[in-house]
Amino acid sequence: MRLSISNHDRDLAGLIYVYPVVSRRAGGVSIGINLNPNNACNYRCVYCQVPGLIRGSAPPIDLNLLETELTAFLEIATGGGWMEECVPEGSRVLKDIAFSGNGEPTSAEPFDELVSLVANTAQSFNLEIPLILITNGSLASSARVQRGLDVLAANNGVAWFKLDRATDEGIREVNDWPGGVDAAWKNLVATAQRIPTWIQTCVFGRDGSPPSDAEIEAYLALLARARDEELPLEGVLLYGLARESHQPEAPSLERLPLEWLEELAERIRALGYICNPHH
Ligand code: SF4
Repeated sequence: MRLSISNHDRDLAGLIYVYPVVSRRAGGVSIGINLNPNNACNYRCVYCQVPGLIRGSAPPIDLNLLETELTAFLEIATGGGWMEECVPEGSRVLKDIAFSGNGEPTSAEPFDELVSLVANTAQSFNLEIPLILITNGSLASSARVQRGLDVLAANNGVAWFKLDRATDEGIREVNDWPGGVDAAWKNLVATAQRIPTWIQTCVFGRDGSPPSDAEIEAYLALLARARDEELPLEGVLLYGLARESHQPEAPSLERLPLEWLEELAERIRALGYICNPHH
């Protein structure tokens, strides 16, 4: 198993729940936890890179198997040899554990228990690396997810909260989610009040045009509202189209020029947020 920055195949390690990737973002090896091996998500983002994505929730999680896989992988990764053999020079360090799979991780049950299990397993290897929850945030208003967020927060956790658009129409068009912006705001509040939270935003051209001015204004207005209401946010992770979409809309999507992202990032920074675009 030779890892590279371009190879993000979740089957690379041959495991169900655990997949290591060399991450340019992390600057080393990120241990992915895929709680959605059934490729099920309650969103259907037009840029989603999951092949065979279906609507739905994570299947029941086999906690014993998750623990076995993570323990086995950490034994290999922290022992001698694996890094040298499988990871390119310059990236040979474990950087984080990311709940980031082929669907929405917070739909997995029992979310708080499995977060505890991952945190405890990492601690048993004396790993002090952050736990990152990459989430669309849509379930953050439920008590069961909030318990999990509290466990994450107590274990060096952060959330990356997906917010691509800030109008009902934009959210429907990009994420194919009917919840709308009011629900997205409530979910953002429920998340950021519990755990250090970064907003994660993907911008791209569609049918030859970038997001409309009205969409951008609504998005910036939501960020301004968060600032004015003193919602504790860490900053904004602004992404272009990184990898190929596996959704039917893929042919209509295109990467925007870096200057376009830089310009938007500048407007986000002008609101007082940290923001560095990732092209
Ligand atoms: S939230 Fe993530 S997994 Fe779900 S459809 Fe969007 S990009 Fe895909």
